[in-house]
Amino acid sequence: MPVPKVHIVVAGTGPAGLIAALGFAHAGFPVSLVGPDANASDGRTTALMNPALKVLERIGILGDLRPVAAPLKVMRIVDATRRLIRSPVVTFRASEIDEEQFGLNFPNNVLNPVLAKAVEASPGIKWRKSLVTGWSLEQDAATAVLGDGSSVSGALVVAADGRLSPAREAAGITTAKRTYPQAALVLNFGHRVEHGFVSTEFHTETGPCTQVPLPGNRSSLVWVVEPEMAKELAALDDAALSVKVEERMQSMLGRVSVEPGRQIYPLSAVTPLRFAAKRVALVGEAAHVFPPIGAQGLNLGVRDVDDLIDVALKNQSDPGASAALAAYDFKRRPDILARSGAVNLLNISLLSDMLPAQMARSAGLGLLGGFAPLRAFFMREGLRPGSGFAALAGGLREQIRR
Ligand SMILES: Cc1cc2nc3c(=O)[nH]c(=O)nc-3n(C[C@H](O)[C@H](O)[C@H](O)COP(=O)(O)OP(=O)(O)OC[C@H]3O[C@@H](n4cnc5c(N)ncnc54)[C@H](O)[C@@H]3O)c2cc1C
Repeated sequence: MPVPKVHIVVAGTGPAGLIAALGFAHAGFPVSLVGPDANASDGRTTALMNPALKVLERIGILGDLRPVAAPLKVMRIVDATRRLIRSPVVTFRASEIDEEQFGLNFPNNVLNPVLAKAVEASPGIKWRKSLVTGWSLEQDAATAVLGDGSSVSGALVVAADGRLSPAREAAGITTAKRTYPQAALVLNFGHRVEHGFVSTEFHTETGPCTQVPLPGNRSSLVWVVEPEMAKELAALDDAALSVKVEERMQSMLGRVSVEPGRQIYPLSAVTPLRFAAKRVALVGEAAHVFPPIGAQGLNLGVRDVDDLIDVALKNQSDPGASAALAAYDFKRRPDILARSGAVNLLNISLLSDMLPAQMARSAGLGLLGGFAPLRAFFMREGLRPGSGFAALAGGLREQIRR
């Protein structure tokens, strides 16, 4: 394969931007990365599924993350609403689809520095620790003007500059936006009972409350509540908050002790009307923002990066040309719209007091809980888009042969 010489500009140094810079450099493209130092004080954790882990392995950072990660072997949904119609508990086991684990859960304050260290060590990446203050998007090249007045140019801009994405705005891509009357309280906690590598998502009237395993008898928690309630909970002392978390978890993990550090994230949804234009391709939260349900966000961001590199390799002479951008848009559109649509719908159905919404959610979860092939389909689709359909088609072929 000839080595690509065309320059790529990656804007943004969150996880999506750092992974994009490493991925493009690994594929042989010279990369200019623009953005501040990586955030090493993010107390959240990120669950990445097996396909995303393969990408981390390819760019050479999975080995450094394994010691701080916990495997996710079982995922459980518990209907903790007090509504008239409630769903049975639905349990997804990785072993049901012949996988050892669905993925790994890492602390972001390790993930981000490990990614940043790999970027610093990569000879193919020039990291300009500055913000982009302006964009000039021309017919044959894109140029970013930086805070110090200097500039960098490339054939393709990878916009990994987050939910407000100035690069998206410069490309004239409009978005559909929604704010939710919800905020996520995020913390980590220790517990008496072993988690057994099970993650449990409690569905409540204010949103999901999700526990995800960490190494040892520790877990992370993303508790979605009304914004006022998030503030009240965060203001409690450790002992009082520990009791609240234990109650919310139905004492499933025994006595709880919350660790120092609480963060609050207001929830919203942002969906761009296009995923690329004028030499700019959107990845990560520049391309999709939705509530943190079912660990989808960065997994989708890694797929954006992977697909963009694939398109760039097929259009090596000019990966930012209109045809290449149209191919990227076409490739990402179904995955992004399906994931963000499903997560937003589930979130709205939780908030809704309307009986039909509750019935639909409960019937859907009931069907999933009681019908193993459907569960397997959703688990495969959850890991890799299209693989659930592929397994169904394989099963049908097998039956026809018999
Ligand atoms: C509570 C919570 C839990 C989550 N859990 C999971 C999970 O378990 N699994 C999962 O897959 N996803 C999860 N997500 C989603 C995941 O966190 C996001 O998808 C991910 O952080 C998005 O990363 P990003 O790099 O796209 O954006 P960001 O992290 O927002 O990074 C954007 C970057 O762009 C930079 N920037 C902005 N403007 C400019 C500019 N002008 N010039 C240069 N740089 C600029 C910023 O400084 C920043 O570095 C969760 C989200 C939340 C809120």
